[in-house]
Amino acid sequence: MEKLEQIYEGKAKKVFATSDPELLIVEYKDDATAFNGKKRGSIAGKGRINNRMSNALMRRLASSGVPTHLVRELSERETLVKKVKIVPLEVIVRNISAGSFCKRYGFPEGVRFEKPTVEYSYKNDELNDPLIVPSHVLAMKLASPEELRTIEDYALRVDEVLSAFWLDCGVTLVDFKLEFGRLPDGTIILADEISPDTCRLWDVKTGEKLDKDRFRLDLGGVEDAYREIMARLEAAENA
Ligand code: ADP
Ligand code: UDP
Repeated sequence: MEKLEQIYEGKAKKVFATSDPELLIVEYKDDATAFNGKKRGSIAGKGRINNRMSNALMRRLASSGVPTHLVRELSERETLVKKVKIVPLEVIVRNISAGSFCKRYGFPEGVRFEKPTVEYSYKNDELNDPLIVPSHVLAMKLASPEELRTIEDYALRVDEVLSAFWLDCGVTLVDFKLEFGRLPDGTIILADEISPDTCRLWDVKTGEKLDKDRFRLDLGGVEDAYREIMARLEAAENA
């Protein structure tokens, strides 16, 4: 598989074309941004960790009935994926109140919900990824009713599988963001990444934050948190 020209550089990854028009190579960077790019920095070793973690979690999801873009890991930072047309939605699942949920509603952090919530943001950097209700997703034809049902079913399945897995690692899955895409035949699959950049992960016993909130909130120990969460995942994988 030949790596061809770079077709996109985002905040956390670069995307390259390959000699196969149906496949892309994503390359994970150490760059970190928050608050829609207003806060910028770098987290040493993050690209390597997010690449390996995202692939390990997607392998697990694929074997639990959630189709993903993962083809194979090529190197520490590079992965071969199926090219999709991204559905321009950030699909956010929450088990426990945190982040924008608390801010928007003036609600305390750390309250476990009776059942997970699913919400959507419209992926549009100029508009700051605004929250969007499903009827507006349908009105703008960002996804069909059937696609939206599939996306919600998969998102809740991801929550079930990953909540159980992280619990085995002594970690609470608080919330996370997913992106889905369409294959050329229209099939919806999970794309992008699942990592400490896109999930809130708290130590079960101490509640310590082991994710990008350490960077967002200037809590310190950012690199250590990424290393710690990766070590927990690897210990569980090898158990
Ligand atoms: P951003 O665009 O938000 O800065 P990244 O730096 O993570 O984010 O860039 C990766 C880009 O690649 C994102 O726009 C994401 O939607 C897109 N992407 C992820 N997986 C795929 C895929 N399998 N096919 C096509 N695009 C993808
Ligand atoms: N999230 C993300 N990308 C975004 C916005 C949110 O990966 O552009 C993730 C975030 O890491 C968290 C979850 O989605 O795990 C919910 O985020 P929230 O809506 O609370 O927004 P935040 O306050 O993190 O911006």
